[in-house]
Amino acid sequence: LYVDQPLGAGQSVPLDRGQAHYLFGVMRQQVGASVAVFNGRDGEWRAQIAEAGKRGGLLTCVQETRPLKEPPDLWLLFAPIKKARTDFIVEKAAEMGARRIVPVMTEFTNAGRVQRERLQAHAVEAAEQCGGTFVPEVAEAVKFSTLLDRWEAPRQIMFCDEALAGSGSGVPDVLSAPAAIMIGPEGGFSDAERARLARLDHAHAVSLGPRILRADTAAVAALTLWQQALGD
Ligand code: SAM
Repeated sequence: LYVDQPLGAGQSVPLDRGQAHYLFGVMRQQVGASVAVFNGRDGEWRAQIAEAGKRGGLLTCVQETRPLKEPPDLWLLFAPIKKARTDFIVEKAAEMGARRIVPVMTEFTNAGRVQRERLQAHAVEAAEQCGGTFVPEVAEAVKFSTLLDRWEAPRQIMFCDEALAGSGSGVPDVLSAPAAIMIGPEGGFSDAERARLARLDHAHAVSLGPRILRADTAAVAALTLWQQALGD
């Protein structure tokens, strides 16, 4: 169970209505039972249910069961697309161990307002589902030009360029953490964006194989390539 509260020996953890509903209503847990909790920062803890009610409850942390395991310092930069496919990208990035997820508004991005908190909730759910101890941060959406104006070396960019579809795929040897994968929108990158990235020493254009993939597929493919080359 994810709780946005500090965890430590003897620490009391209040539960909100939603958590209480899940734990006591859906999972039928009762006072005295043990629950595994994590907050994305303090590892995983065994906690005991001290109070159970319809509108809330209270846990007491007993013992750390797994220490925090942070993934390699990899960000996913992606242009938001339709709602359900954007949700999919965030979910998969959290499962695949991205450390930070950044929606980037590019020239051809054609999506409505990005609801950061909703996407963050998806990241939490994905981390919960795959038994992680870490939750990636979903950042506020940022414009492509602002992102690159503020870019901090030595973080490198694995720029997934659909114009390279057909050439051999793979993560170039020069890439290492800290890094960021960049995925474009349905309409791809503009010539100006491609030119801007080509001028950056720390951006490396990469092909994801012979065909042009949908943006959500491309995000998973790029994360998989990265994972295979540099993940742990
Ligand atoms: N029209 C499709 C869609 O609706 O999703 C294709 C979108 S494709 C242009 C979206 C992004 O996926 C590209 O900007 C690029 O970042 C990445 N991508 C897709 N296929 C790729 C490939 N073969 N090599 C590198 N990047 C690729």
